[in-house]
Amino acid sequence: MTTTTGDQALIKRMNTAIVLEAILRAEPLSRAKISEMTGLNKATVSSLVQDLIDNRLVREIGTGVSSGGRKPVLLEFIDTAGYAVGIDLGVNYLRGVLTDLRGAIVAEKKLALATPDPDNTFNVLRPFIQSLIDEAPDGPFGVVGIGVGVPGLVDRGGSVLYAPNMGWRDVPLKEALDRTFGIPVLIDNEANVGALGEQKFGIGRGISNMIYVSVGIGIGTGLILHRSLYKGASGFSGELGHLSVEAHGKPCRCGNRGCWELYASEQALLDRAGELGYPQDLDALLAAAESGDAKLRKLLEEIGEYLGVGISNIVNVFNPNAVIIGNRMSKAQPWLEEAVRRTVEQRALGFHLRNVHLLYAELGDRSAVMGAAELAIAAFFDRLKAA
Ligand SMILES: [Zn+2]
Repeated sequence: MTTTTGDQALIKRMNTAIVLEAILRAEPLSRAKISEMTGLNKATVSSLVQDLIDNRLVREIGTGVSSGGRKPVLLEFIDTAGYAVGIDLGVNYLRGVLTDLRGAIVAEKKLALATPDPDNTFNVLRPFIQSLIDEAPDGPFGVVGIGVGVPGLVDRGGSVLYAPNMGWRDVPLKEALDRTFGIPVLIDNEANVGALGEQKFGIGRGISNMIYVSVGIGIGTGLILHRSLYKGASGFSGELGHLSVEAHGKPCRCGNRGCWELYASEQALLDRAGELGYPQDLDALLAAAESGDAKLRKLLEEIGEYLGVGISNIVNVFNPNAVIIGNRMSKAQPWLEEAVRRTVEQRALGFHLRNVHLLYAELGDRSAVMGAAELAIAAFFDRLKAA
């Protein structure tokens, strides 16, 4: 198993990163074209490309069309030069992927989590991550990082300050994983990594301003503004699950009442379904809706209406190009869609509605785990540039 300790030594010069980035953006590319794109002279490009080839980050893939002289040799990035681990740490499950540097899944695992207390979680999480690392084929960079999405507030040092659905307070998650694995660990909020996952690999590709609404047991939001994740002054932006939607509504564990997630989340659906005598299990409920259960479809429509109420507020505040409904409740799209759209159209300001798309996560319940892997991949390329 190769570790990343040699990364910085392998690639020292900023120019190497510039050349690599050009290849990543526009491959396959010839040396002459790279020189043209980067402004670096041909001799420099040739020597840097040779370094990249020697380091197994780039390879030659035959010849392109000649513009007069000799046919140029084309270069492409080697996706399998390194691997990343992505983890979606849920309240009652662990989901993990091992991907190559372009995000192609090499291995994927899922595990039920009996109790979410920190000690139990660490005991399960460590071997879970190790088992993904063990799946990595040999490559020059090995596993370049571990990204983790957590349903809670995460500070810039990677500590989970507060994860109410897991009962966590001040858990130094990054520190604990750093110590165990000795490779870069990146922790972020589950909705933030879900937004990244959809932006990089899902339906959010190419969208500049999008709000990802993670609808699971609670509701969280990840804000992509001007193509980058907006994290706020302390990294705590996006707690829109606690938007007030009912002035005198139900009390919330956050101390407020009438919060959006009490009416529009998976938990809200399960509670209401329980009152009507249904099993409190999302998949069972969706199967019933699928088979035509009218009472359940009506219930999903009500949830969709409440989702629409919150989304109207979001549309009015951010004027986004798209709102993406993700996480587990995205599976209920067929029964939510109409009510969400109708409610947003009735409630959001007309000017804001002109360009907004209401979308559903393309990666389904993989948005967060893929975004977590992307955290690790992006950090790897950032380190290459800084080296
Ligand atoms: Zn609340």
